[in-house]
Amino acid sequence: MIAPEIVLEIRRHLAEAKLSQRQIARLTGISRATVGAIASGRRPDYEPRVRDDEPERPQGPAVRCPGCGGRVYLPCRLCRVRAIKRRERERQKHLARFVASCARS
Ligand SMILES: [Zn+2]
Repeated sequence: MIAPEIVLEIRRHLAEAKLSQRQIARLTGISRATVGAIASGRRPDYEPRVRDDEPERPQGPAVRCPGCGGRVYLPCRLCRVRAIKRRERERQKHLARFVASCARS
């Protein structure tokens, strides 16, 4: 894996368009094929990955959670985990029912 700052440097050189890909490769010590891949956008894997399933950092003072009644930083992690577990149980129940109905017919 190439260090993200190298990739950024390569992108910068590409954007400036003053050097050839071969020259950029020599300058950065990265293979020309890789520079070409970055140029053509075939290496999008160095963008910072933002996880959108992660709740935001707690903000403000702890408050009374309307879900579980605990003093928590919202969003309440306990309620979130309970909701996930509840969904998981529901899924298992539906699956069991489905399997049972298949066995009957
Ligand atoms: Zn809660």
